Amino acid sequence: MEKKGLLIVISGPSGAGKSTVCKALTKKNKFWISVSATTRAPRKGEVNGVNYYFLTEEDFKDKIKNNNFLEHAEVYGNYYGTPRSQVLKAIEEGKDVILEIDIQGALMVKEAYPEGVFVFILPPSMEELKKRIINRGSETSESFTTRFNSAYREINYVSKYNYVVINDTVDNAVRNIESIIMAEKCRVDRVKDEILNP
Ligand code: ADP
Ligand code: 5GP
Repeated sequence: MEKKGLLIVISGPSGAGKSTVCKALTKKNKFWISVSATTRAPRKGEVNGVNYYFLTEEDFKDKIKNNNFLEHAEVYGNYYGTPRSQVLKAIEEGKDVILEIDIQGALMVKEAYPEGVFVFILPPSMEELKKRIINRGSETSESFTTRFNSAYREINYVSKYNYVVINDTVDNAVRNIESIIMAEKCRVDRVKDEILNP
């Protein structure tokens, strides 16, 4: 029987650096990255099927009805969802799957798939978070305030996760996540069947 892959969920407040860290992590390692569906409009340079599957709200809601998502959430006025069958198939095939999703979605995945590895990314300080959201330049002043205020509330969810990683430098954050994944792969409850019933 093929050994199952790990499901690694990377989550945390907007601006903490989730996408940046995931990009660096997957450049160095062979992971299967889940492509989410969303109702938000593509940003410049984003490609359908690569960055996201861009759907109309109607199509998205049909997929919710048909139970096509492992999790879905409304984030800042748009819907986002993780395709269920593709992710579960990749895990069954032994691939280690990364989901980079918001906190509500991560908690839904934890209910559906508790054996996942849940990693919370934090900025080194709230001052640095503010700078990062501003430097990213993707927000209006209204959406900046919404995201920054949400970040304060969202930090409380850290206790629902298995691991926390401070994204001070991208290299440090990547190294810590690689160590977490390595340790998870050595956990007795994940490998004991293989050892005791070869
Ligand atoms: P998220 O995906 O969590 O919303 P991003 O990956 O978009 O966050 O990062 C937010 C901003 O912070 C981006 O401009 C990114 O370049 C910057 N950033 C991310 N990680 C770091 C870091 N370790 N040091 C400095 N800037 C960072
Ligand atoms: P963005 O619009 O900036 O690409 O993403 C906004 C937020 O949606 C980020 O916090 C990102 O992690 C989250 N997100 C992206 N894909 C998904 C998904 O499939 N499910 C959930 N719940 N959140 C997602």
